[in-house]
Order: sequence, then structure tokens, then C-alpha cells
Amino acid sequence: MLHTIDTAKFGPLGQTMADAIQSCVHCGFCLPACPTYQKLGHEVDSPRGRILLMKGVLEEELELEQALPHLDQCLGCLACEPACPSGVPYRDLISPFRALANEKRTRSPLEKLRRTLISQTLPYPNRFRLGAKAGKIGKALSPLMPASFRPMLDLIPDTLPKKQTWKEFYPAHGDKRGTVALLIGCAQQVLDPDINTATIECLIHNGIDVHIPKNQTCCGALSWHVGDQSAAQKFAQKNLKAFDPEKYDAIITNAAGCGSGLHEYHLILKGTPFEKEADNFRDKVIDVTAYLHQLGDLTPFNETGQKQTVAYHDACHLSHAQGVTAAPRALLAAIPGVTIAEIPNPHLCCGSAGTYNIDQPEIASSLGQNKAKAILSTKPDLIATGNIGCLTQITSHLKTQGRPIPIRHTIQILRDAWST
Ligand code: SF4
Ligand code: SF4
Repeated sequence: MLHTIDTAKFGPLGQTMADAIQSCVHCGFCLPACPTYQKLGHEVDSPRGRILLMKGVLEEELELEQALPHLDQCLGCLACEPACPSGVPYRDLISPFRALANEKRTRSPLEKLRRTLISQTLPYPNRFRLGAKAGKIGKALSPLMPASFRPMLDLIPDTLPKKQTWKEFYPAHGDKRGTVALLIGCAQQVLDPDINTATIECLIHNGIDVHIPKNQTCCGALSWHVGDQSAAQKFAQKNLKAFDPEKYDAIITNAAGCGSGLHEYHLILKGTPFEKEADNFRDKVIDVTAYLHQLGDLTPFNETGQKQTVAYHDACHLSHAQGVTAAPRALLAAIPGVTIAEIPNPHLCCGSAGTYNIDQPEIASSLGQNKAKAILSTKPDLIATGNIGCLTQITSHLKTQGRPIPIRHTIQILRDAWST
């Protein structure tokens, strides 16, 4: 699409956004892939419509306030990217645009308070743990709380697992095949710390030294995807210092959202002195399932005689954002007795999407219900996925439908299979 954007006006990401807009040929092939277009049925709630809205604002032909409701409803799921024959990098547009909008938009005091509560707790495990405990009291008082606070309170689990901590180094078992560093994440280590333990166990079991750099922090994706670029930059810079890519064969993530966030450090830090470093860093970032799969020649699993159908749910930030779909399926299918069930419409988001289920609870809930139904249609014994947000969202919607089928991170299923 031709445009008349004065890119210099919009900082280091101005040209990046303009290039993304220019690569769109307005064909509409992305529309059927978009969950919000499917649900709301309006062009302005589709990828093509949103690109036009952002173009209008950047060309100063459209008021930001007119575009925002439709842009806020975008999940950032990136299902539009693989569906696009022209290769439009939608991620190069939506997050930078949100950062720009964040500086200009007005929010009510209540909305500001809600955002501050989220941004000051979720990325910090100790605060999040404390906040979740305090939130249980808030949950009990939920009917007295402002309506916009209730979706946030609803997501607080009734019980939290026991806190786990990890050493800085875990040596490989047997012959060493590689050396990696692991990002242990923030919310995930509170909600399900066993995912990190399982990741370490699977890696060392297959000959990999695992380092856990101690000054690491939240990946910054939660901040970046809601437009808080300055917070995202602080997190990114801290991680660049903590993880020296030269020391490791790979920087491993086990939460799709974090992996996708780390892959966007070049955008988050564009125009800063850390831009080049960010590029080297992201080249080393890889999801644990993709890493194990490409390592190959893995330790064989034992036969247990047990047969189970595992429905594999593609987390958007693993499949659309990182292109990881085959590796987790192949690893799970290698477990004796496991049959992988394909969930209908696997490209559609479950509605979790970072803080989307707090910000847009109605659409998120409808997508969550649809995903739970699609999963149930495969009659699984067990559900596997690669993202803590999806895990929480799907668990909650399966419960609502009265079908609490177990759901686990792919790496936990692999670890259990290797330990039997
Ligand atoms: S499929 Fe790609 S090129 Fe076509 S409208 Fe969508 S984003 Fe634009
Ligand atoms: S990121 Fe997802 S919700 Fe947003 S436009 Fe693309 S497909 Fe639609």
C-alpha cells in the first residue's frame, strides 16, 4: 500500500511501521485467519482493516481515538502473518504502534490503577506471589470491586504451588552435547514452577549443560505488547546483560510468550545503543521443544504399555510468532503409546494472549469457550501446550464446561515419559 507517512516524526520505529504498511497489498487473505474478524465480522476488526487504521493515524488523516477500540481488540496472536501471501510483518506494526499510542492516549484514573497493578506485579515473581495471596481476599470481595477489576481477580488461582528455586548450573548427564542458558520467566514460575524443573531435567537427561543466569528478569513481552516500551526496554537491557550469547549454544525459553518477546528485542531496542546486541541475542533464542527436536538422537523412552490420546494446542506465540509446530508434535508422538489428536482450527487463539483476557474479557472468554469445545471434540486423555497463559485459560474454560481434562506443558509430559 502506498503511504504518505512522515516516518521521521515517529522515532526509530517510524520506518519499520511504514515498511510493514507498504508491504500490504490489501488482498484480504488474512481475514479468515483472524479470530477477532471471525467473532466480530467487521473489516475494522481484521488485520487488513487494522493496518488501514494505523496507516490513517500515522498519515494524520484519522484521530487516534477512532482507531484505538479496534486496535485494542487485536489479540496480537499473529495468526495473520502466516496467512499473508505477501509476508506482511504485522508484528513490526502493531507493537510499535501501541508504544506510540501509549504516549498519547488518555486513560481514566481507575484504568491507570488497574494497569499499574498489573505492570507492578505480574513481571515480578515475589510480588506476584504476594499479590495473588492478597488477590484472594479481593476475589472474596469481588462483587464490591469495580467491574474492570473483576476479570483480573477471576484469574487468580485458588491455590498456588509451593515456591521452587533453581541453582545457577545443572551439569549434563553422560556425554555432554551442548550448553544452554534458560530463561525461567516470571508469572510461570509462580503459577507452575515445575515447568522449569521439567525443562532442566529433560535437557540434562539429553546431555545438555543448563545455566540459569541469576540476574535475569521478565522478558518484557507483557509490557511491550501493551505499548509500554520504556518498561520493555529496561527488562530487555537487563536480560542482555544477564545472558551472554557468546557463552551458550542457545538461550532456551519454555513459555511461548517469552520466546516471542525475546525475538522482538531488536524492535524493542531499535534506535538505542543495544540494537546490535539485541540482534545477536535473539539469534540464539529458541523454544525448548525446537531445541530438543533439532538436537536429535534423544534418549529413548521406556515402554509403559499405556495408551493415551494427547490433544496438542498450538500456542499462538509458538506457532505463529516462532514457527514452532512440528517439533512438539514429533517429540510427543515419540512417546510409546501416545497418539496426537489434531484440534480443529488450530490457528485460532484461545483468548489468553498476555493480558488480553484481563483487558478484553468478553472476546477472550468467547474464544476460550470455543477452544475448550474444539479440544473436547478430539476426546483427549491429556492436553499439551507450550505456554503458561494458554494452560491457565484452557484449564479455566474446561472447568466451566464441566470437563476438567488434565492439561500440561509439553516438556512436563516428556519429562514424565523419560522418568518412567
Ligand atoms: S493477507 Fe497480507 S497483504 Fe493481504 S490484506 Fe492481509 S496483511 Fe495485507
Ligand atoms: S494479531 Fe491476531 S487478532 Fe490481531 S489482526 Fe492479526 S490475526 Fe487478528
